Amino acid sequence: MSVLQSYIAGQWFGKTEARALPSAINGEAVAYTHDEAINFGEVVDYARHTGVKNLLALDFQQRAAILKELAIYIQGRKEELYKISYHTGCTKADSWIDIDGGFGTLFTYASTGRKELPSGNVAHEGPVTQLGKGNHFNGTHILVPRRGVSVHINAFNFPIWGMLEKFAPAFLAGMPCLFKPATATSYLTEAAVRVINDSGLLPEGALQLIIGGTGDLLYRLEEQDFVTFTGSASTAQKLKNHPNIMARSIPFNSEADSLNSAILAPDVTPDDEEFDIFAKEVVKEMTAKAGQKCTAIRRVLVPAEHLDALAERIIERLGKITFGDPTEEGVRMGALSSHDQLRDVTEAIGRLQESSECVYGKNEGLRPVGKNVDSGAFMAPHLLVNHTPLNDGGPHDIEAFGPVATLMPYNSMNDALTIAAKGKGSLVTTLTTKDPSIAAEMIPVLAAQHGRLQILDAEASKESTGHGSPLPMLKHGGPGRAGGGEELGGIRAVHHYLQRTAIQGSPTMLAAVTREYVRGAKVVETDVHPFRRHFDDLQVGESLLTHRRTVTEADITNFGCLSGDHFYMHFDDIAARKTQFGKRIAHGYFVLSAAAGLFVYPGEGPVLANYGLDTLRFIAPVAPGDTIRARLTCKRKIDQGRTSPEGHPQGVVMWDVAVTNQDDELVASYDILTLVAKQK
Ligand code: NAP
Repeated sequence: MSVLQSYIAGQWFGKTEARALPSAINGEAVAYTHDEAINFGEVVDYARHTGVKNLLALDFQQRAAILKELAIYIQGRKEELYKISYHTGCTKADSWIDIDGGFGTLFTYASTGRKELPSGNVAHEGPVTQLGKGNHFNGTHILVPRRGVSVHINAFNFPIWGMLEKFAPAFLAGMPCLFKPATATSYLTEAAVRVINDSGLLPEGALQLIIGGTGDLLYRLEEQDFVTFTGSASTAQKLKNHPNIMARSIPFNSEADSLNSAILAPDVTPDDEEFDIFAKEVVKEMTAKAGQKCTAIRRVLVPAEHLDALAERIIERLGKITFGDPTEEGVRMGALSSHDQLRDVTEAIGRLQESSECVYGKNEGLRPVGKNVDSGAFMAPHLLVNHTPLNDGGPHDIEAFGPVATLMPYNSMNDALTIAAKGKGSLVTTLTTKDPSIAAEMIPVLAAQHGRLQILDAEASKESTGHGSPLPMLKHGGPGRAGGGEELGGIRAVHHYLQRTAIQGSPTMLAAVTREYVRGAKVVETDVHPFRRHFDDLQVGESLLTHRRTVTEADITNFGCLSGDHFYMHFDDIAARKTQFGKRIAHGYFVLSAAAGLFVYPGEGPVLANYGLDTLRFIAPVAPGDTIRARLTCKRKIDQGRTSPEGHPQGVVMWDVAVTNQDDELVASYDILTLVAKQK
């Protein structure tokens, strides 16, 4: 049996057996933790010096590209992780959530990083605010790497996803990570870290793995570091209040346990398709990963008149769930991930029964299938009913982190909202209703106490990703008991790991810092049209002020005929006189098109495509007789390391366009996105 090793300071460390980690299926040791004590001073120093230095030698775009390569690499070796994952009690479907869900999150963050982060290591969070009347003093925000270490402490239930969903945004943000997986399933995390290391894709120091306890690690953290935690509310409290974390105001993100609810709305009856959809969702959440998901449904709220019908429907479905050795054919629910967990959940069910009755799971004589399962951590699904859900305590306080849910009857929508709120802040709730007006009434009230809300009806159920699935592009984390933290949510998660700083100064200074042209900053004007410059030669701030064009009646008529837009404002003199402009004006889209006619360089050149406009505003009207001109300025360059379909390297250039009239008044303002070829 192997001794697990920590990966610290670029070396695998530890060789002496300490604690045996038993398989959830048969109780036999899968691996041992190591006995050697870790020098956390060395771990933190290595991350701070080697890790930070190597990560910041790359930029946002390069780190995003590495994430994609890493996702592809792990995907190619996933089968070896699946084999180990069975020992955590997982079925193949459960492992899919952890393993495919893990590298899937890397793919999503690779793409988010490439689309939403700039080149370099300074992210500009505009808009720039003019602070002085003359536009000489402005303010804006930048987001920069913290130059510290990110410590990730994880729960036992997602040994791979739990690591990667924290790693992806932290890595993009340029922070070296120290992972501390829950010991019980750390053998799977260790295997995944070995795969990651074998890839050779990560810069030295980007990742270290800690098997076992954290020793004096938290005392060694400093102001620019970051801690993210997933686990029980009690551990979260303890770590959040660590004296060093408090004294140095070290950001601490907490994802703790949550007594999530699912609500069957009053409009749904047992004859509706939604009734069955709801029962199916409850059973899925009770049994996926044997109920060991922080997002699993623990409290099931049902109109009192449908309590019996729903209990019957759920029990019928639970009766079809075969549980046991997940390697056996036909097994739908595996084991709890450890014997400690089995003991904890059994004890929690006992406490739940002080206020609720068990209507399924206790007396049916249910047995796990498979050979050698007697020493495994198996548990049948348990369904309870609580008849007094308006009382505090009981199922609103006790988390049985296993295949356990409690039914709760309610008499009015207000009661349902009151009962849901007794979870004191949850990760997620599913509301099943056919009626949009019920959703519109209940969801905003529920939102105050939840991190995510799923509205489930027959239409959504065709494609629903499920109550219990946090998605990389949507926020994961809830208020109150759920920890008060926030993970994922697309680019938001990367921003959590970056330092946001307000910057004040002249437009030229702000442009230099943000590497983004700011209106009013000094521009560079040369004899060469900016559209004739390759990506590599173009400078941010390079600008062209065009010749002028006087807008005529004929322009409006021609544009109306060409586009088919004969809106009264452009063609009906009497109606237009009654508007705020007092006269007919040109189409905004004409102004846009005329500006393009003014600034494009018509000949062949390195600008390959225009793929969109951002921030378009028509600021002042343009009427026949007005004379317009445009200023085109290179605003931002993003090097995504991409090539055209023919293999030619190219980059993204964003151009600032300001269209002004004869009085130098801004009439239209926007950004244009183009692809520009590189020289080499
Ligand atoms: P736990 O006992 O709180 O442990 C969580 C992590 O904290 C483990 O890595 C554990 O390491 C570590 N830890 C415990 N005491 C520590 C200390 N004094 N210093 C440093 N690290 C310490 O939780 P768990 O049993 O692993 O996970 C189950 C719980 O997590 C459930 O309550 C569940 O609701 C919650 N959870 C929440 C989410 C979420 O996203 N909100 C997700 C999954 C699970 P050891 O294993 O070595 O003790």
